[in-house]
Amino acid sequence: MSVLPCVGIGDIRIWPLLDGRMTVDEPPGFPAADDPEYAVHAEYIHDGKWHIDIGGFLVQSGDRLVLVDAGTGPGDGEVFAPNLDDSRAELVHWAAANGMTDPEQVLTALQSLARTDIRTGSLAANLGQIGFRPEDVTDVLLSHLHFDHIGWVSMDGKPFFPNAVIRCERHDAEHFLAPEHDDTFYRVMWNAMPTSERMAPILDRFEPWDEDALIVPGIECCFGPGHTPGSSFFSITSGSEQALILGDAVHCPQELMDPDFNGTGGDFDPEQSEATRDRIRRDAADQQVLLSAPHFPRLQFGRLHVGERARRWHFRWQS
Ligand SMILES: [Zn+2]
Ligand SMILES: [Zn+2]
Repeated sequence: MSVLPCVGIGDIRIWPLLDGRMTVDEPPGFPAADDPEYAVHAEYIHDGKWHIDIGGFLVQSGDRLVLVDAGTGPGDGEVFAPNLDDSRAELVHWAAANGMTDPEQVLTALQSLARTDIRTGSLAANLGQIGFRPEDVTDVLLSHLHFDHIGWVSMDGKPFFPNAVIRCERHDAEHFLAPEHDDTFYRVMWNAMPTSERMAPILDRFEPWDEDALIVPGIECCFGPGHTPGSSFFSITSGSEQALILGDAVHCPQELMDPDFNGTGGDFDPEQSEATRDRIRRDAADQQVLLSAPHFPRLQFGRLHVGERARRWHFRWQS
């Protein structure tokens, strides 16, 4: 368990809730260790591996208690070691269905991803640590429907937040819950429960929104497609203060500073995703805006400083 500092935005309070971490091979394009930009990543990289935190944010606005993204869910603590040879036919099929014309090249990239170690499941305990119960949550807003953002919406075939309405943008609902949607990649690589199975127990309380929407006072849902068809981020505003909680359009601050760096790829529509990142960079150029995302290290909020020649990132707790 790990209680992270609460952030106040006017009258609204935000608690980052860690769910766990995945460890993957360091992607190409990271700054060298002697590059000043490397400092931002120091706590990401250990022994040549990239440590990616996973979590969500609990936002209290008036009488609403909103969970923004729901982690990966309970894990068994075991490293899942996929057998790519046994799954080769499925992965080749998946690659072809996703427009990848060289399945051999895809398999080589997958060898690296297959070494991912995912350990999660602490979000519920961290919610308890700050004094809330699952039944206190009134709304769950999902930035998108990838498995590492929806894990706690259900457990053992039942809604985990018994009083919450679960929401995401309509394009993601249509994409991920279509009968023909193929979860092979995530199931084979990371033993992930298919989105349709995870969401099935909450479908009677599932209310997608359309593009931009204001569902909870102070929390605006901003349509930012590309990573997935309905990917969204959230603008939290109270008084003169504002924070942005990003989804997976941005996995780490380096992607805000350097438009040429895309740490993880994996975007449904890379061009559209880059346009969304551009828009976020522009929104974040106002240095009063605090930003975080479900994969930022320790889910910390920070600010983007735009200088004449370069952008710089500062975590809030750094001096
Ligand atoms: Zn994602
Ligand atoms: Zn993610």
